[in-house]
Formats: sequence, C-alpha cells, structure tokens
Amino acid sequence: MDIKTVDSYDFSGHKALIRVDFNVPLDKQYNITDDSRIKAAVPTIKKILKDGGAVILMSHLGRPLKKLKEDGTVDYEKHSLKHVLKHTSELLGVEVKFGGDCIGEEAFKMSASLKAGEVMLLENLRFYKEEEKGDAAFSEKLSKHGDVYVNDAFGTAHRAHASTTIVANYYPADRKMFGYLMAAEIKNADKVILQAEKPFTAILGGAKVSDKMLIIENLIAKADYIIIGGGMAYTFFKAQGYHIGSSLAEDDRLETAKEVIAKAEAKGCKIVLPVDSVIADKFAADANSKNCDTTNIPDGWMGLDIGEKAIVDFRNVINKSKTILWNGPMGVFEMEKFQAGTKAVAEAVAEATENGAFSLVGGGDSVAAVNQFGLADKVSYVSTGGGALLEYFEGKELPGIKAIRG
Ligand code: AMP
Repeated sequence: MDIKTVDSYDFSGHKALIRVDFNVPLDKQYNITDDSRIKAAVPTIKKILKDGGAVILMSHLGRPLKKLKEDGTVDYEKHSLKHVLKHTSELLGVEVKFGGDCIGEEAFKMSASLKAGEVMLLENLRFYKEEEKGDAAFSEKLSKHGDVYVNDAFGTAHRAHASTTIVANYYPADRKMFGYLMAAEIKNADKVILQAEKPFTAILGGAKVSDKMLIIENLIAKADYIIIGGGMAYTFFKAQGYHIGSSLAEDDRLETAKEVIAKAEAKGCKIVLPVDSVIADKFAADANSKNCDTTNIPDGWMGLDIGEKAIVDFRNVINKSKTILWNGPMGVFEMEKFQAGTKAVAEAVAEATENGAFSLVGGGDSVAAVNQFGLADKVSYVSTGGGALLEYFEGKELPGIKAIRG
C-alpha cells in the first residue's frame, strides 16, 4: 500500500506540526541516557527545514498524571520536555525554542510567528488528561499550531490519543502524512507480515506468554516456524504434561497453549521449543546452574535460559530462513550467566541476514540485546516500536496509521 510521506511534499512556506516520540530515559540530573528516539526523528525535521518550512514538535514524556509525587501532585519538573531542548538543538544544528504549555497562549503566539527554518517544542502533551482521552476539542486546539500534520511517532501509533490520531481529523487529506521513521517502520513491518519470503521464522521470547498469545495466533497462519524461548516456553511444556520445576508458568494459559500447538500443527507451522534449558536454583546472578532437558526440570530449579541443544536447534532453523522476526529475549539475558541463548540467537539472526535473509528485530528487550552484543547494524531493521509493533503483528490496525492512511 502507498505510504504518504514527507518525502514527496514541499514544505516551503508551511508550518509542520510533528508528533515525535521524545519519550527518552532521563537520569536523576535530567541527562538523556539514550537519545535514539530523538535521533530517529532528525531526518524528518531536517527535510522540512531544508524545504523552507517551520517545525512545531510535540511529544509525551513518561506518564505524569499516573506517576504522581508522594504528596499526590503532578511532578511537572521531572516530566518536562525542556530537559531535551539542548540536546535536540545540538542534533539538529538549530536552536529549538521552548513553547511551554502545549495549548497555552504563549505557545500559540510562538507558533504563529515562527519563521521558515525555525523549530519549537511544545511542553509534554500528557500534562493534559485530554491527550490520552483523545479529546476532540484539545486535538482541534493542537491542530492550530501548524497547517500540515506529520506523524513520526511509531512507538505510540497503537494509541488513539489526541496528538497521535484525533488531531489528524482537523487536516485535509493532502495535509497529513508520515515522517520518515513511521514510513520505514510500516514498510519493514509490511515486508514481514505481508510479503515474507519463505521460509518465514518468528522468534518470540520474554517472560509472559499472555502478552504474546495474540501474536502467536496471528503468525501461525503466516510463519513456517515459530521459535519460542524465554520464560514463556515453560507454559508450553507444562501444558504438555512435563515437569518444569519452579520455572515461570501461567496456569491460566495452559489450555490456550495446547490449542496453539494443535492449531499450528493443522496449519503446517512448526512450533520450535527449547528441548533443554539452563536451569538455576534461584533467580539470581550468582545462582548455581546447569544444563537440563526442559521436559524434566527438578523441583526447586527453574529454567532461566535455553540450553545447548536448543541453541543448535534454533540456529538451524534461523539459518535456513529467508524472513525473520524477533521479539523477546531467550532467557534472563540481563544476568551474564543466562545470556548465552539470547546472544546465540542474535548471532544466528545476524548470520542469516548476511546470507541474504530479511530480519526485523523489535521490542525493548530484544533491541537492548542486539545493541548489547554489538549486532544492531547486522540485522536488516531494528524497530523503535514495542507495543505498537506487537499490535501490528497481531494483525490490528493501528489508529495512528489509520488516521493518515484512511
Ligand atoms: P517481556 O517484557 O515479556 O518481553 O520479557 C522480558 C523479560 O523476560 C526480560 O527481563 C527477561 O529477563 C525475562 N525472561 C526471559 N526469560 C526468562 C525466564 N526463563 N524466566 C524468567 N524471566 C525470563
């Protein structure tokens, strides 16, 4: 499907209101500890400025109305986007002005007098409850800042919030479009979900099977292999009657796990589980650990990583795949003792990519893993979306995308 982007629009003389995702992690002194989200928005902003347009940036930062101070009041200082002004200015090579209150009088004065080549940033949208509610009047007010609306915040595309979705209602079809980041996210996700070259393998991991059930069910019809690692694998073993010791298990998902295995079999999709695990006698970095068949984990022991044989199995499947989607770690990779499985999978995905496969890695922890192992530039695409990417692969239409695509 055609994606309408900033690339084919001449912004000369226009004011672009851009929804970016500047929800970056800050330390106690409000220094940015990871600026990748800001960096990801730079190409879109630069293109608009180069055309001779002006830019009004809007974003959220954290959840100010939900994470209150101990005295029950909103922590405006902690959640202020003014902390990112300096660094954003440095990345853009243009001084970014601070507009303050996103629908305040000052902000409107500033956006009204903004000149070509200038950039301003509005204060945290989530200081207003209307943002997450998708309030129409609030959205309409936001729309007054610019005559073109650009959405470049894939991370929030699954939310029908004012700035991500509803605001688009106040722009004609030819004045709303995606930024480069959004366009790249959609294009790469579609390569996997709509145009996967076979064999297509999805690698799913992480702690909870309940978070991933919908995506597994949707992928059964599309993937040739679904590799399941991480804590969620143990629910599948338990569902088949095996002994998993004190490994993670979601007892209310045993039936669904059984159904998934049967459905996959019927559709010719192979579910690949870790035949062995690295088990530990406690959930700790200094636990005693050993390799053990996943079908028979002793009481008092828990599987915290995939085992040696599983690594070989997973690698074999990954190596013969032409399309690979990876979401979620294979074990508790934050602890060195239990990171071998995640590292081996990251390496296998990189190797398959070198041999011509298309690979997409998404979701906070798997992205952290490829970064940690220095393999981020050895996979085809690293997504910035966590929840949004999952929902896309669950087969849902994301409101932020629909608002522009129609
Ligand atoms: P998620 O947020 O569901 O993607 O899960 C990511 C988390 O799952 C990471 O913090 C991992 O440490 C954790 N995890 C992965 N494998 C296991 C396991 N076998 N047991 C417990 N936690 C795990």
